[in-house]
Amino acid sequence: MNPFTFARPATVEAAVELGALDGARYIAGGTNLVDLMKEHVERPTRIIDLGRLPLNRIEDAEGGLRLGALCPNADTAYDERVASRYPLLASAILAGASPQLRNAATNGGNLNQRTRCYYFYDTATACNKRVPGSGCDAIGGVNRIHAILGASDRCIATHPSDMCVALAALKAQVEVVGTQGVRTIEFADYHRLPGDDPSRDNTLAPGELVTAIILPDEDFSQHYTYLKLRDRLSYAFALVSVAAALRFDGDRIADARIALGGVAHKPWRVPEAEQLLIGRAADADAFASAADVLLAGASGQGSNDFKIPLVRRAIIRALSQAAAGTPQSQTDKRVA
Ligand code: SF4
Repeated sequence: MNPFTFARPATVEAAVELGALDGARYIAGGTNLVDLMKEHVERPTRIIDLGRLPLNRIEDAEGGLRLGALCPNADTAYDERVASRYPLLASAILAGASPQLRNAATNGGNLNQRTRCYYFYDTATACNKRVPGSGCDAIGGVNRIHAILGASDRCIATHPSDMCVALAALKAQVEVVGTQGVRTIEFADYHRLPGDDPSRDNTLAPGELVTAIILPDEDFSQHYTYLKLRDRLSYAFALVSVAAALRFDGDRIADARIALGGVAHKPWRVPEAEQLLIGRAADADAFASAADVLLAGASGQGSNDFKIPLVRRAIIRALSQAAAGTPQSQTDKRVA
């Protein structure tokens, strides 16, 4: 039993003040933190429950949408504005977890969920993310689900979110509040690669609180797909996933977005891969060229070598689905 204090502040300012104290952790849906506390991976001394904060609305904002950090994932996916204007995001959310989890999990919590690396959850093993400097038992161990891009010799974990892969492709922004005030972080800069400090998943300062996700005024609603490949169709994290979105001018690609999940410590996006598609016809050669750029430098750890050819095929498949306007169904999850 790890004793902790419990607070339910009524304002963001009060929450942030408490969140900046030593040993504090914010809790919203609790779908990851409670598991981590049961496994003694997280041992907070103060729990700050965000349930009373007015951060659960979805609002129009400068032509785009502002998604409250405490809005449940399910409410976000089924919001009419999200479903019609940002179907890539709705599809990615519905590809993740189970209906029960999506009802409880929040948008802010989705961003901040921790890796599902088996060793991170097992306190009998070495893990630099859990205990800095202790080593990494995944390297040379069981690493079927681990990273093929952007890993370091300290950590080869992947970020588990589906929602974040779509947010990366859509070039969302994250609004955060800390004791120093409000700031906005580009989504590409929110999560970080492990480098020599895998204990840090993102670029939040201590005590900073995610208050909203901003979706820009852009339309990728006609040509998109979220393709998720997993071991078990009913419910599993992605082995690899691809968020793809295209815009056309006649029969030529006018804009492109591609982000990968399940392959790195953060959603993986390489703007050069998108640039090289602009002005080209939507064909397999063009999509294969984009895949080559996205996967430059990819390397496996042994058990996960299969991910490299798998994600290459998934990129081409996803871009083909997006071009055809036939997005992957999240109800019938089989890939035809
Ligand atoms: Fe820990 Fe990262 Fe190694 Fe997994 S891959 S054991 S999270 S350091």
